[in-house]
Amino acid sequence: MARQRTLSIIKPDATGKNLLGKIIGRFEEEGLRIAAMRKVHLSRAEAEGFYAVHRERPFFDELCTFMTSAPCVVMVLEGEDAVAANRRIMGETNPAEAAEGTLRKLYAASIGENAVHGSDSPENAAIEIAYFFRTTELH
Ligand code: ADP
Ligand code: MG
Repeated sequence: MARQRTLSIIKPDATGKNLLGKIIGRFEEEGLRIAAMRKVHLSRAEAEGFYAVHRERPFFDELCTFMTSAPCVVMVLEGEDAVAANRRIMGETNPAEAAEGTLRKLYAASIGENAVHGSDSPENAAIEIAYFFRTTELH
């Protein structure tokens, strides 16, 4: 295990349900700290760029429409094994398959509108963090 950083996004569904405090509080309770945080309303180009890896997937258009439908909160979480820790706290992509107590089980309505994003590897975390934050904004 190593101290890591990962990118987290509180997606438009959760932001719209007034869940920012609950979700951020959960990360802190689990030992992750917020190294950077910003509320953003993504443009279409920003959403498409962020999810470029999914460009050929059938849900890409729906995903980008959802992610631009209302503001998100983008955050850098820092802590021991932060990438895997965040994925564990989030739960499976599909809330119907997510474990009890995970953020997606608690708060997500569907596989598309699933409350939170988390980087899936340390390599992608570095790319995703750099997409939203300058090094000088991480504290
Ligand atoms: P995760 O966010 O768990 O890493 P993926 O990287 O596979 O999941 O997918 C990115 C996002 O695309 C998901 O979080 C979800 O918002 C959306 N998505 C994934 N699969 C589907 C699907 N079958 N239908 C609609 N949206 C989907
Ligand atoms: Mg993913």
